[in-house]
Amino acid sequence: MKKERILVTRTSMPPYEEYINEIKDIWDSHWLTNMGPKHNQLETELKEYLGVENISLFTNGHNALELTLQAMNLSGEVITTPFTFASTTHAIVRNGLTPVFCDIDPYDYCMDVTKIEDLITDKTTAIVPVHVYGNVCNVEEIERIANKYGLKVVYDAAHTFGVRYKKQGIGSFGDASMFSFHATKVYNTIEGGAVCYHDKELGHELYKLRDFGIKDAETVDGVGSNAKMNEFVAAMGLCNLRHVDEEIAKRKRIVERYRANLTGLDGVQLPPVQKDVQPNYSYFPIVVDEKKFGSTRNEIFETLAQEDIHARKYFYPLTNAFDCYHGRFDVYKTPVALHISKRVLTIPLYADLSLENVDRICQIIKKCHK
Ligand SMILES: *Cc1c(COP(=O)(O)O)cnc(C)c1O
Repeated sequence: MKKERILVTRTSMPPYEEYINEIKDIWDSHWLTNMGPKHNQLETELKEYLGVENISLFTNGHNALELTLQAMNLSGEVITTPFTFASTTHAIVRNGLTPVFCDIDPYDYCMDVTKIEDLITDKTTAIVPVHVYGNVCNVEEIERIANKYGLKVVYDAAHTFGVRYKKQGIGSFGDASMFSFHATKVYNTIEGGAVCYHDKELGHELYKLRDFGIKDAETVDGVGSNAKMNEFVAAMGLCNLRHVDEEIAKRKRIVERYRANLTGLDGVQLPPVQKDVQPNYSYFPIVVDEKKFGSTRNEIFETLAQEDIHARKYFYPLTNAFDCYHGRFDVYKTPVALHISKRVLTIPLYADLSLENVDRICQIIKKCHK
């Protein structure tokens, strides 16, 4: 019997009838985009769900982040992490800002907060940390540093939909936080994203920048982009929001099964269980120490692929090693991130992954242990 192909993730979708029902009003109204009723309803519901003060919706997470940095009118240098998706670094560079890479913590893979202050210069204007894999950054220490030096903090919270820290929505930390609703994330609107923020003035800027910088019918006072969320996308978001708690609960069972199978396996580091954090079980990255384990990350990757199981080398390469930045950054300045990126493997995790398949994946990994 041919075994099913398993990819690293699989998009969650609402029942077909539910979506069809949700989009009926759009046919009646002929209002397809530009802050329509579905868009506005989703804003209200997400604000509630995420436990944040204000929210703006966007076409995708990347545009949300890029336009937030623009709205803050930053200049000079921005301290960030190279252990992330391309978007974080590109958003900084596309704003004409210089990313300054801070190394990461070897256990939660977020920015190592003890290394931030050494990187601050008189050109530094902001910090852009990433809650990578859904792990929460040391938000208290980042806030202390930002206050001390007068820096803005914009979190890339793309992986932390629904995560809470000390019972507070993760999007309420920093000056702003970006969420991604891409099809591959825990919660999706097909493509989509949002920014949560405190300052109402920033909200006005964001409103304009996602709509060409148009202030009113006869005033365009910002060099904006076009990044508005349309009604069909918002309808998908409304449907998926009704199911997201159930999705996260299913993910929890899978993560627990992975832990039961892999805990104590010599040379394999599992994701941390963080204190005071209500997680969303978004990713399951393992870090393989080939000296103790007997096989490399790449060997496990290949062995799984032979069984039609497709893990991903998230995040390899580091963003500061990308071809488009050749010669601009020194990867040896972030040695922990470099070390982890060569050893990390993100194994399949999605709500409908069966526990039998989780066991099978773990057996294959264990077979690589020598
Ligand atoms: C997905 C992702 C983004 C970008 O989100 P899009 O919605 O795909 O534009 C940014 N940062 C990180 C860490 C991500 O994983």
